[in-house]
Amino acid sequence: MNQFRFSRRPDIGDKVKVSFEFFPPKTDEMEARLWDTVTRLEPLKPKFVSVTYGAGGSTRERTARTIGRILNETSLTPAAHMTCVDAARHQVDAVIQEFVDMGVKRFVALRGDPAAGVGTAYRPHPDGYANGAELVGALKDAGDFDISVSAYPEKHPESPDFATDIDMLKRKVDNGATRAITQFFFDNDLYERYVERARRAGIYIPIVPGILPVHNFTQVANFSARCGALVPAWLAERFDGLQNDPQTHALVASAVAAEQVLDLVERGVGDFHFYTMNRADLVFAICHMIGIRSHEAEVAGSAAA
Ligand code: FAD
Repeated sequence: MNQFRFSRRPDIGDKVKVSFEFFPPKTDEMEARLWDTVTRLEPLKPKFVSVTYGAGGSTRERTARTIGRILNETSLTPAAHMTCVDAARHQVDAVIQEFVDMGVKRFVALRGDPAAGVGTAYRPHPDGYANGAELVGALKDAGDFDISVSAYPEKHPESPDFATDIDMLKRKVDNGATRAITQFFFDNDLYERYVERARRAGIYIPIVPGILPVHNFTQVANFSARCGALVPAWLAERFDGLQNDPQTHALVASAVAAEQVLDLVERGVGDFHFYTMNRADLVFAICHMIGIRSHEAEVAGSAAA
């Protein structure tokens, strides 16, 4: 990667499309932070914004409330995450219908993590959808939706090998998935290799890289270990010694993520999904660096109309 190559690409912003992921807030304080974030990122005109859904429906009400506010109070297009872990089919179908009645047309369909936590054995509900692929099928039966699914450039920790992992992605595509969004990763070569594997397996939907700006390196390193994402030594080196220096940490984090995104643009990637962690600053800065600029006047106009 080298910044001089990137600096010759002032037109990048025209080509790149972004989406943002939020989680439903638990407290009034978190709710206020989320809406500050939504307000700041809305003028960047993302393709859609997605709202996560807790395993076993644990966030159903909060996810629905957040989606409702996005629909009613912003110009943004929401995508509702759905999981099928620990739920019978009729319960999942009822949640799909609830979202559809609200006006939701985009979904992110996931199996979800086992209730006992990441790393424990997954047991499908006896009357439930067994995995992401079956949930995609249920959504497809319910309507003509835009359906995103997960993809794992370093394979899902439960997949014994890449062939099994890619096979699951293929089943999701065969059932109607229109886009895959990846687990976050820091090594672009791993992403590229995964996309090549998927294409060789006859999977042609967009595989959109999920980008995680590193708000807190220690937390990201711990979480990565649990979900099977590699933290390269060079990344640890960049954040080394910055635990008590939030300002420098944030500057380094936006440089690292912008570098990653720009390198992917150089490799021909045009869509990015940002795990915002309900914080605007790093994502806003990274978008600015890749040429995505605020359309504040247009957003204000559409809200007034
Ligand atoms: P699936 O695609 O069904 O399966 C994942 C992998 O497990 C497959 O690749 C497959 O190889 C392997 N596998 C599945 N079943 C078997 C089996 N029987 N034998 C062998 N291997 C098997 N979690 C939430 O709780 N809420 C969210 O909102 C949420 N959003 C996410 C968004 C994105 C973009 C991503 C990447 C993940 C998200 N997750 C979310 C996490 C996700 O729920 C977990 O990673 C979960 O463990 C797997 O769900 P999945 O839909 O990827 O599973």
